[in-house]
Amino acid sequence: MAGAQPGAGQRLGILGGTFDPVHQGHLHVARAAQTALSLDAVWLIPAAGPPHKPSQPRAPFADRLAMLELAVTGEPGLVACGIEAERPSPSYTIDLLAALRGRLGPGPELFFLLGADAFVEIGSWKAYALLPAQAHLVVFPRPPVAPQEVEAAIAAVFPAFRRRSGESVWTAAGVPGRIRLLAGPPLAVSSSQVRQRISAGLPVSDLLPAAVAAHIVAHGLYLAHPALTLPPASGYGTGRPAGGDDEP
Ligand code: ATP
Repeated sequence: MAGAQPGAGQRLGILGGTFDPVHQGHLHVARAAQTALSLDAVWLIPAAGPPHKPSQPRAPFADRLAMLELAVTGEPGLVACGIEAERPSPSYTIDLLAALRGRLGPGPELFFLLGADAFVEIGSWKAYALLPAQAHLVVFPRPPVAPQEVEAAIAAVFPAFRRRSGESVWTAAGVPGRIRLLAGPPLAVSSSQVRQRISAGLPVSDLLPAAVAAHIVAHGLYLAHPALTLPPASGYGTGRPAGGDDEP
């Protein structure tokens, strides 16, 4: 992991995800958060075993981290962080935040960044009610999820939180973390779209940093869906792992 450890009074953004692969949407979120919230740094943290996805990542952890390192090169304040490799799978956000707090101490203020699509599912995450005690939650627009759906999710999942008058910020008495809904133009890019385009032989240069695209080509990532490589006698699988990996 590059970069200095944030200290007392510093503001650290955390963008967790699968990053399979990292794309311009992730970088857009990290840069926009830096500007809007005056963050000293944003750490982009790939999950080793993501609990919220219906199937396991297509690319190995080492490739996903290497692509992140390439993506943040030359991006001041953005840092690729491999801490999840050292922790047990699946990678629950509440445990990641506790591990970061343990490592960094009480000094830095933590801002957990997530897209609206992820936020509206947060009620299924492990110990979700405790998340705002660990970090502020910062939600980014991501169509097709509407801002009203995010507001409804806040009311349903965090009922103690009340909207501050005239602001897109929610607070609760006795809870250190705030929930903030950021405005701004969304960037309609997803890792699934990147994977689909690569396996269909379509260009992706508008969706990814050039160095990430070069890594994908050099390592032959995402070329075909695993189900298509099964022998015909086995039939075509779904690509899902045996057993569920959803948050309990
Ligand atoms: P996939 O298509 O495989 O589901 P993804 O594009 O959603 O992947 P992730 O690595 O799973 O990428 O996302 C990590 C975090 O970044 C999530 O909180 C997600 O909502 C957010 N995110 C990713 N892309 C965008 C985007 N274009 N706009 C806003 N948030 C995004």
